[in-house]
Amino acid sequence: MPGYSGSVQPAHHRPRVPRREGFFLGWRGILSEFGEVLPITDKTPALTLKEGNTPLIEAAALSRWLGGGVQIHLKYEGLNPTGSFKDRGMVLAVAKAKEEGAETVICASTGNTSASAAAYATRAGLQCLVLIPHGKVALGKLAQALVYGARVVAVEGNFDQALAIVQELAEARPEIILVNSVNPYRLEGQKTAAYEVCRDLGDAPDYLAIPVGNAGNISAYWKGFCECFDQGRSRRRPRMLGFQAAGAAPLVEGRTVERPETIATAIRIGRPVNRERATRAVGDSGGLFAAVTDKEILEAYWALAEHEGVFAEPASAAAVAGVIQLVRRGYFPAGSRVVCVLTGNGLKDPDTAMRKGAEPLILPARLDAIESILQREPAHV
Ligand SMILES: *Cc1c(COP(=O)(O)O)cnc(C)c1O
Repeated sequence: MPGYSGSVQPAHHRPRVPRREGFFLGWRGILSEFGEVLPITDKTPALTLKEGNTPLIEAAALSRWLGGGVQIHLKYEGLNPTGSFKDRGMVLAVAKAKEEGAETVICASTGNTSASAAAYATRAGLQCLVLIPHGKVALGKLAQALVYGARVVAVEGNFDQALAIVQELAEARPEIILVNSVNPYRLEGQKTAAYEVCRDLGDAPDYLAIPVGNAGNISAYWKGFCECFDQGRSRRRPRMLGFQAAGAAPLVEGRTVERPETIATAIRIGRPVNRERATRAVGDSGGLFAAVTDKEILEAYWALAEHEGVFAEPASAAAVAGVIQLVRRGYFPAGSRVVCVLTGNGLKDPDTAMRKGAEPLILPARLDAIESILQREPAHV
């Protein structure tokens, strides 16, 4: 795994170029870079949009602002090809669907799964049908699914209802493959993010903070961290901290939520399919589930942008909101290393971004007009 060890290895599909020590060949995507630890065969198509290898960003300003001696790092998954971590699992799920001779992939989605499925299905030459909850998908995600050429159906119901329908459809028809996170290849692909965190930190962190919707990603990270530990790539395993929105917190409350509601639409899920796996991950790691209110989510959303220059969508901010809440409760020992997974890009949801009412100053195109504002206090902050 060249991306892991840091050594440069020949990319056999490219002509050999003269190379010197440290010459950077470029990232080849999840299936190539992590082939050794993924269930791929000679027949698996080499599908990629060069997903993965996202930055782990030190959040020094946020850590200082928070106090309590925590060292926060941000795993910025919004920099994947379609703007969310879903690409890591989708590339494998779609490649395996193609390998198995499927014609169509299908999913229910709060938005990012549909964007990712649509992109990879197109690339693999498959049809894609997505069901989304009508009126509850962020604008950027809806635009993506449509632009990538998926058939998009908005159902008059919530995510959980849409998922029940696509599960039934896929069970009845072998030519249709379900690519929601009940598909085991999704979690296999997603676990690679944990490998990258261990690579970049030189070890696993003390805590991993992550937003939880259908609970696939927290399960995938835990699997990845356990594998890294077993393979001697890390000396520890983190405590897993799963955060849900207060209006959609089935794992915190220990019961199904019939009418989930939150501004963080990506985690607006009341009946998580990976409930058991995630509960085990949290229990075995000595972590916890906790709920954050929409107000706390928005506070974290703005804090991330204003302190760190990192723009993540509201669901991602739930992980940071959870860490803020736990710092204020005195949960973390001083010096703890905490990685927050920022699952999706802020550009996905322009409506939330513009809600605060910040607007540009409109001025004539003249030097003196622009100079005049340099004397004044900034009006918009
Ligand atoms: C899908 C998604 C989540 C939730 O992940 P699960 O695996 O369903 O728990 C969180 N944030 C964003 C941005 C997502 O797209």
